[in-house]
Amino acid sequence: MTAAASARQILLRLTEVMASRMHAQAKLDQVVEIIGECLTSEVCSIYLLREGMLELFATRGLNQSAVHVTRMAIGEGLTGAIAQKVETLNLAEAKAHPDFQYRPETGEEKFHSFAGVPIVYRERAVGVLCVQHVEPRRYEEVEIEALQTTAMVLSELIANAELIDEEQARGLTAEMTGPQTLTGLTLVKGLGAGVAVYHQPRVEITQVMAEDIEAERQRVYRAFDKMREQIDTLASQAEFGVGGEHEEVLETYKMFAYDEGWSRRINEAIDAGLTAEAAIERVQQHTRMRMREIDDPLLADRMHDLEDLANRLLRIVAGQVGTAASQGLRKDAILIARNLGPAELLEYDKRRLKGVILEEGSLTAHVVIVARAMNVPVIGRTKGVRTTIREGDEILLDATAGNAIIRPLPQVADAFQTRFAKSREKQAAYASLRDVEPFTRCGTRIQVMMNAGLRDDMSALAMTGADGVGLFRTEFQFLVSATLPQRERQTRLYRDVLDAAGDKPVIFRTVDIGGDKSVPYLASEIAAQDENPAMGWRALRLALEREGLMKIQARALLEAAAGRSLYVMFPMVSEPWEFDAAKQVFDEQLAFLRAQKKLLPERINFGAMLEVPALAEVLDMLLPRLSFLSIGTNDLTQFLFAADRANPKLAERYDWLSPSILRFLRRVMQNSVGSGVDIGVCGEMGGRRLEALALLGIGYRRLSITPAAVGPIKELVRKVDLAELTAAMNGWLLSPTGSLREQLSAWADARDIEYD
Ligand code: PEP
Ligand code: MG
Repeated sequence: MTAAASARQILLRLTEVMASRMHAQAKLDQVVEIIGECLTSEVCSIYLLREGMLELFATRGLNQSAVHVTRMAIGEGLTGAIAQKVETLNLAEAKAHPDFQYRPETGEEKFHSFAGVPIVYRERAVGVLCVQHVEPRRYEEVEIEALQTTAMVLSELIANAELIDEEQARGLTAEMTGPQTLTGLTLVKGLGAGVAVYHQPRVEITQVMAEDIEAERQRVYRAFDKMREQIDTLASQAEFGVGGEHEEVLETYKMFAYDEGWSRRINEAIDAGLTAEAAIERVQQHTRMRMREIDDPLLADRMHDLEDLANRLLRIVAGQVGTAASQGLRKDAILIARNLGPAELLEYDKRRLKGVILEEGSLTAHVVIVARAMNVPVIGRTKGVRTTIREGDEILLDATAGNAIIRPLPQVADAFQTRFAKSREKQAAYASLRDVEPFTRCGTRIQVMMNAGLRDDMSALAMTGADGVGLFRTEFQFLVSATLPQRERQTRLYRDVLDAAGDKPVIFRTVDIGGDKSVPYLASEIAAQDENPAMGWRALRLALEREGLMKIQARALLEAAAGRSLYVMFPMVSEPWEFDAAKQVFDEQLAFLRAQKKLLPERINFGAMLEVPALAEVLDMLLPRLSFLSIGTNDLTQFLFAADRANPKLAERYDWLSPSILRFLRRVMQNSVGSGVDIGVCGEMGGRRLEALALLGIGYRRLSITPAAVGPIKELVRKVDLAELTAAMNGWLLSPTGSLREQLSAWADARDIEYD
């Protein structure tokens, strides 16, 4: 018999029983008989959750006296393990399994083989359905599939028969899974509390049994078509990093999306009588089980991709297409996603977004930079998210420590709130440094500027007392717009920013799109060109060649700065002529405005970013052209180490305190001495305390950093004696043994300097 046919046969008979007017207990008694008979299994038992324990509710084959007597805690024995992990077990010899627990009252000693599946209701295990056999053999695939299908239907039938009270199930199962802690990599420090919100909301399956099998088939058929279309579109834009999806992942998506086996299994589950949604979920449960048995980390990654895709398919079938942002956040929330694009993050309501948990992510990915600017704590590379966190769960995120407590106990939540209050106090202490100028102990004034990108960010200037905006990422406006921002809109933004800054300087960086910064309206052009977007047609390269882009921005900046000082910085300059070409665009626009007798900026200062290592070799050619140079350590380090800044697998591999980076940066500083060009650092590196120490120690006197770091860095600066620090750094860099992290930490400890 095919899996579908045997499952259908069971389902038809089950439905009859459940629809009858029998008492609930009598129904369950019949159910185990039917399943046992159809699967020719000597034992079939149903355990259901009652008062937090799994209780044997009905059995065929075990001692009847054990019914309502045998009870297992969640996690106890094979049944408990199935409920806890919400996974299927299929064992030829039950006793050989480490979780096996013998219960004499059941009389199960004569049975060898064992298979059990969780009965899941609203994403939580509310019971277990299991079969046992005398003969020691694993159950066949078709039998397991039939069991899984049956369990799905059972959950609905059991709920309808009020054998599980929905409210109680929620309460009990919340207690059942209890508090859990997940750990991840600190991407943006801070504390946050809120309810779990999945960026891609998960679909709750409300109807399991199909009313019209043909209609369900059609629904799945159409959903597959649509999903394939979506994946193809994504793949064609992949080089541009749309939504943070990487090429490798998309390849896997594609493979699964077109996998005949997958769609066939879903169709078989529909044939067995399930709705499209239930069928997709059923097949997914089965795949999950098989993948776990294989226990291969590479396959686990692929499983992750398949989960994503199955979720996508489910959302299409259920007509729930938007992200959580489109539905709006109703409470304080901790957002959960595999990965996000910066624009996607910006769609969320800042007031309600209290934290982000990413399954991937890396320190210098733009989404993380945006989160840092929004002051939203983030952890990344978090394992076990989907099996632990359910939509709506309460979460305490301690991104500083790199962990998240899911469903915390009240006393833990209280302690967290106390820490929260303390951290706010600390923030307040930093705020008190607002008007204190950052002089070192030896009396050198360090420029501590902040990075910004949105109009809203400007309020941080007054709050932190930063010396100005050392990097204004103008592309953020492009990222949050559905279409290319018109000149008037650009001018308005730049003018507002300058107004907000008052006397303090703002360094506007011309657009840096491409790489992991995606804009839909340019995607097709870029995708067609680039196989390796970070090193591709991005930033200045794109802006110079795309007719109008740079011109319009130049005009917008010149007009916005009429009557005041303008600082313009070009990103990704790789050779000096590119700087000249960019500057020329400004000169032309300036000439145009002059001819129009428009009010011009009082003074224009042009600068470049040093992000491409090649530029460091031609500083003698470049520096005479500039009034300032800013080192973008995010890009620079990705190029120095040939390590994609957005690749989560490389997120922890290389250290900013490695001798290669520090020697490189020191050499740049040394080669610039006497040029009169103001040199600073504007990458994320400068906002971290040990890294900032290192930069001060190799000669840097201007840092532009994320606003939240301004207070901590000012505090640090005040404790430093530069001569002493420089001597130490030079000593360590003379014959390093590896990263300088240890030496610098010890140095900071000895001077009572706090670091991260
Ligand atoms: C950098 O690359 O260090 C930098 C500051 O620019 P962005 O992070 O925007 O690429
Ligand atoms: Mg950069």
